[in-house]
Amino acid sequence: MVYEYLYRHLVFPIYDKFIKRRGIYNYYKSLTGNSFMQEGELKRMRRQKLNHLARYCHKNVPFYRELFERNNVEVEEVFDVDGLRRCGVATSKRILRESKVPIFSRGYDRETLLNSSTSGSTGEPFLVHMSYDAWCRRMALKYRSEDWFGKPIGTPTTIIWGHKPGLSGLAQLKEKFYWRFQNYRFLSAFKVGEESLIEYLGIIRKCRSRFLESYVTVVYELARVIDEKRLEPPKLDGIVIGAERLFDFQRDLIEKSFNCPVYNRYGSTEFSNIASECDRREGLHINSDCLWVEVVDEDDRPVVGKPGQIVVTDLHNYAMPLIRYRTGDVGVMSAKRCSCGRNFPMLEDVMGRASDTLVTEDGRKMHDMFFLWKLSRVPGIDRFQVVQDSLNHIYVNIVHDGSVEPESTSQGVKEALEELAEFNISIDTCYVDDIPVSRMGKTSFFRSDIGKDRVG
Ligand SMILES: [Zn+2]
Repeated sequence: MVYEYLYRHLVFPIYDKFIKRRGIYNYYKSLTGNSFMQEGELKRMRRQKLNHLARYCHKNVPFYRELFERNNVEVEEVFDVDGLRRCGVATSKRILRESKVPIFSRGYDRETLLNSSTSGSTGEPFLVHMSYDAWCRRMALKYRSEDWFGKPIGTPTTIIWGHKPGLSGLAQLKEKFYWRFQNYRFLSAFKVGEESLIEYLGIIRKCRSRFLESYVTVVYELARVIDEKRLEPPKLDGIVIGAERLFDFQRDLIEKSFNCPVYNRYGSTEFSNIASECDRREGLHINSDCLWVEVVDEDDRPVVGKPGQIVVTDLHNYAMPLIRYRTGDVGVMSAKRCSCGRNFPMLEDVMGRASDTLVTEDGRKMHDMFFLWKLSRVPGIDRFQVVQDSLNHIYVNIVHDGSVEPESTSQGVKEALEELAEFNISIDTCYVDDIPVSRMGKTSFFRSDIGKDRVG
């Protein structure tokens, strides 16, 4: 309790401002000031930011200069994404990866940029670069969103998440210290079987976390164990989930088992935190002072109240600008305003993130983020899909990018996934021309075919 208070009011501001000399705390303060901005003021701010970004990109980013000129965009007149949409301006992971024209801004030294190694959630490796300043702003947005559901900076939290593979002992220790410093307890989401779930519940109880943060699948499994074994749940103020679609049946069981509210949020590696629920839970507030989010139909027309593609413009990442970027996720734009009084528009639902889970013969479940971590850096992979066809076998469908010999990619895959041998799972690779995109416009990167051939 004392550390929580000190961390929030003293340690974090001093560490951020004077030791690390970064701007997270200042951004957090100023972004918090935007929370109850009037609608007109918010609109004016967004229009100015977009106009500035468009003019900057035209001048400094060859890719956008060419795109705008090809589509006859009058950059001085760009104040609204609708104008860009009508001119046919849109980007995506695929377009940017295949661009022969540089997608980076001339104003930044690539060596100084941070990158998030994303496979996103579509199984296609893609590196998003950002300046340190843009990263600080993203972190500040995360803290602001957490305030909205009553989890201020420093709240004791257990996080069950994917960790970076191949860390040395020292690096693991540093990571552990880093989490503890922020009042987090970190647990791995990769090997979650019933025994470890029960152990995890004990740890959450013991370390008196007030919040739990994890993937939907993991929290749902925890809730199921509590329900089936009639266990006493840890006393939590709330559970924050993300990275996968949250179904109503999951929310119901989680809230019943843990006896606390679930807060949904939606983010991506390209943009970090895009939208999150507030304590009223009437929809996910979009961080629209920093991101311009649209939901469009197949003809790129805006849709409200029904599912469409989520398209995002980052108003602050000038190093590698993403303008009208198709995320590959599907969501529903809400027509409603939240009763909390915040004027940030809302997403009613985000459904493009349903994923599957690998099951081992001893009943463990491994989150599909495991494959993203492991395979996103194997040379030669353009896109991949892991298919589990039996408890002891998976094959990896690979669209090869030709940068190395396929044999070396296959070897890389086997090495990256070597710990599956522990679970008696063998691996084959299979080279394919394409990986089909689902009806929702999304490539699934893990699929389970177990039991499918047994039907009938
Ligand atoms: Zn609200």
